[in-house]
Amino acid sequence: MSNFLDFGVAKKMKEMNENQNKITQLFQIKYPIIQGGMIWHSGWRLASAVSNNGGLGLIGAGSMYPDILRENIRKCKAATKKPFGVNVPMLYPNLNEVIQIILEEGVKVIFTSAGNPKTYTETLQKEGLKVAHVVSSTKFAMKCEAAGVDAIVAEGFEAGGHNGRDETTTFCLIPNVKKHISKPLIAAGGIALGSQMKAAMILGADGVQIGSRFAATTEASAHENWKNKIISLNEGDTHLTLKELAPVRLVKNRFFHDLEKLYEQGRNAQALQETLGRARAKRGMFEGDLEEGELEIGQVSALINEILPVEKVFENLLREFKAAGISEL
Ligand code: NDP
Repeated sequence: MSNFLDFGVAKKMKEMNENQNKITQLFQIKYPIIQGGMIWHSGWRLASAVSNNGGLGLIGAGSMYPDILRENIRKCKAATKKPFGVNVPMLYPNLNEVIQIILEEGVKVIFTSAGNPKTYTETLQKEGLKVAHVVSSTKFAMKCEAAGVDAIVAEGFEAGGHNGRDETTTFCLIPNVKKHISKPLIAAGGIALGSQMKAAMILGADGVQIGSRFAATTEASAHENWKNKIISLNEGDTHLTLKELAPVRLVKNRFFHDLEKLYEQGRNAQALQETLGRARAKRGMFEGDLEEGELEIGQVSALINEILPVEKVFENLLREFKAAGISEL
């Protein structure tokens, strides 16, 4: 058994070192580390810093009006010569306009989520883009493969923000997805340390997508109140809620408890929607209202205790990755 484990880790390390890794090859990056395109965090500063440190930075279009997105793409191009991408939740009415900007600005990588991967994959690939799609179940991962995406992000229940209904953890999701697909696989949800990255790769992932750890960085565009809140969170401080609307993992603040009261009263989806209102996420994470805003972060926030520059996050991840592992059972 120990030989088997040693072999798996050594193989992954060798792949990383020789640039044989499917994710580094696909995106032409140094490390198979992709930054989550989290709304209200992922502007050009964060994306370019991640790319400059050898990962793949993503601009989060989900919280950007089209002109803001264009400006962020242009600033990112000026700040890095390395590949970067844009994350696009496919829910907006002006999705076509967003896609058009991405094409016009010559972006080479797109991560789509919250929609059907069939809709844009082929069109984007014909324009020379690499397309990854985010899913939370094996069933949807298989649909991505059928749609011809270049890579699949499988995100477990631990993740912050919008999430799957089935509550499948990363530890269970990754080996199952791996069994059913052949495309490059990126694990997300519950990964902030190099040891967690290595575990995900031993389970079958070719790379990782990291959100929460990058949310608490100097370069993230979120409000300082929120970054300081992230580093104070403990185990059990987040919860998956609002399954009737769109499941989302939130910090248990006053807004969360207001939702809980509605559940206790047996109120319906409409009452939940009315309480949620509009722009709660912006209020919490961008404007820093820690009580009335929506605060989206993963369970792994319990392991994040410092706001760090992106460079330091990479240094830690790579050191921890190398150090992690067991030599025998
Ligand atoms: P709301 O409907 O409550 O509000 C929309 C928010 O998005 C507002 O704050 C608005 O800014 C901003 N916004 C930016 N660009 C646009 C645009 N083109 N059209 C409309 N609004 C825009 O949505 P949420 O804040 O809850 O979520 C926003 C988006 O991000 C959704 O698509 C959602 O699915 C996605 N999302 C994804 C998550 C994930 O984990 N993948 C997590 C959370 C959200 P302003 O207030 O300045 O008008």
